[in-house]
Amino acid sequence: MSTGRIVKVSGPLIVAEGMHEAKMFEVARVSEKHLIGEIIELHGSEAYIQVYEDTSGLGPGEIVESTGMSLSIELGPGLLQSIYDGIQRPLDVVYAKAGHYITRGINVPGLDHARRWEFTPKAGLKAGEPIGPGDLLGEIRETELIVHRVLVPPTVGGGTLVRAPERGAYAIEDTIAEIETPNGTAKVALMHRWPVRTPRPIVKKLVPQKPLVTGQRVIDALFPISQGGTACVPGPFGAGKTVIQHQLAKWSDAQIIVYIGCGERGNEMTDVLQEFPELTDPATGRPLMERTVLIANTSNMPVAAREASVYTGITIAEYFRDMGYDVAVMADSTSRWAEAMREMSGRLEEMPGEEGYPAYLPSRIAEFYERSGRAICLGSEGRTGTLSVIGAVSPPGGDLSDPVVQATLKVVKVFWSLEDQLAFERHFPAISWLTSYSLYHDALRDHFHAEVAEDWGRVRTETMELLQKEAELKELVRLVGVDALSPQDRVVLETTKMIREDFLHQSAFDAEDAYTRLDKQYRMLKAILDLHRRSIEAVGKRCPVRKLLELPVRERISRMRYIAEKDLAQFDTIAKDIEEQLAGCLKESRTGEE
Ligand code: ADP
Ligand code: MG
Repeated sequence: MSTGRIVKVSGPLIVAEGMHEAKMFEVARVSEKHLIGEIIELHGSEAYIQVYEDTSGLGPGEIVESTGMSLSIELGPGLLQSIYDGIQRPLDVVYAKAGHYITRGINVPGLDHARRWEFTPKAGLKAGEPIGPGDLLGEIRETELIVHRVLVPPTVGGGTLVRAPERGAYAIEDTIAEIETPNGTAKVALMHRWPVRTPRPIVKKLVPQKPLVTGQRVIDALFPISQGGTACVPGPFGAGKTVIQHQLAKWSDAQIIVYIGCGERGNEMTDVLQEFPELTDPATGRPLMERTVLIANTSNMPVAAREASVYTGITIAEYFRDMGYDVAVMADSTSRWAEAMREMSGRLEEMPGEEGYPAYLPSRIAEFYERSGRAICLGSEGRTGTLSVIGAVSPPGGDLSDPVVQATLKVVKVFWSLEDQLAFERHFPAISWLTSYSLYHDALRDHFHAEVAEDWGRVRTETMELLQKEAELKELVRLVGVDALSPQDRVVLETTKMIREDFLHQSAFDAEDAYTRLDKQYRMLKAILDLHRRSIEAVGKRCPVRKLLELPVRERISRMRYIAEKDLAQFDTIAKDIEEQLAGCLKESRTGEE
């Protein structure tokens, strides 16, 4: 720890002299106001500190103290339902203390230290047993929806349990167990601290196995993400990035949601702050917040806090992953995070890379996404947990050559490409079926085949092939007109129109349409493809395309999104309609010929 003096203030960056013993990434307290900052560069005894609070009014000569600690957060019961700023200050507590403008230097712990939690020890846990990091000590029902597993923290080495935990009500700093380790006796409490820039340890990463089921048809059926996978959603303003992130927070089958809002505009974050607490968990009807942690950077927060917020968020996510949960992190938008890096880098007068972003931008982005995965967690139980990361990227003008998009695409395995034109046509989600991709098809194939339908992969391939064919045909039509198309090609265009309008298009705001179960997704696609196959057959037998367009079953297909989950048998009658009506069509055209 050392004490120095400010020599220069440059926006959120201050330079302090006399910081002989300071270390990189140590937290420093700046001026008499005790503003929170972090050392991000050292030149001899000169420390460059990014300050997470408004630095106006600071000047040379003011005192700076390093704290000896890395930027870390509190992990323990009480995280769920919280709304934090980028450095884990609970916004409600801050507001209560200081009003809507966060007063500088305000010191608020991330967790409630006074609250007592009913703790139930793991059955049969006795003093004298060997115990190590990640081992289960007991449980707390943190919310109606989530049981908080209290584990030996990774910071405590392995050893012998000398004081076994007992049932009771504890505050988070109370000692609940003691472990004799080679380095002495460690007291274990319900909470521990963890430096946000360091990934929490796991035993090993596993290959993905299951999809993160989102209920969003274009995603699950065409471009799925796995539990523990990574995806990015780049797109221009208004293309639907935020709506997708919200849909995934609400509907995906992750058990815990960490939503990091790096707001583009102040009002956008206000929306999140107002909307999230009102959302209900569709599976249970309970408030969604009971399994959610929200990190919000409102516009009145300094740029550096944004830089920290993604680390705060992913660390909280890792903590729940360690308990064996399926966790999903949504970051909206990572571009604002990258811009924060750019601003700090500029002030450090570092050599700029592309578009003024620092040269280390790609490695920071990669490190962030690499904290995702399906993993065997620490502990003798051999729990598996997953951490999925879905990042929105908002490049200027939606330009995909943007350095943040490019660096993100190098690491993520799913790309949901939002298109201006689709959003303009009100085709939502505006995910382009031609440019998007998922690299999880192979890993997820077995799961889809076993759990949904054994020809899931074939149905998907057929759908994609038709959509690609449509793009070629449209080009052709543009050049030579629709009359030049063969009847088969005209059928293709009719089919792809159905795929687009009756399957891919999905309203986030319609109660029945907002979520579609996998088996229903499959049956919807099957119905369209079934009609397609029989239509191709029919035109081959000279049935006019015009006749096919008049089939009443098309109307049923256009309404199949509204078929309730309990009424999936309706798809059987649709299949029957298709068969009968096409047979009728063929019969008519044969009679017509005679
Ligand atoms: P972005 O975050 O990319 O700027 P938003 O997610 O805020 O864009 O979406 C902009 C608007 O587009 C929304 O307010 C909504 O009207 C419409 N929209 C986006 N996605 C959907 C959807 N799935 N269903 C219906 N409307 C949507
Ligand atoms: Mg948005």
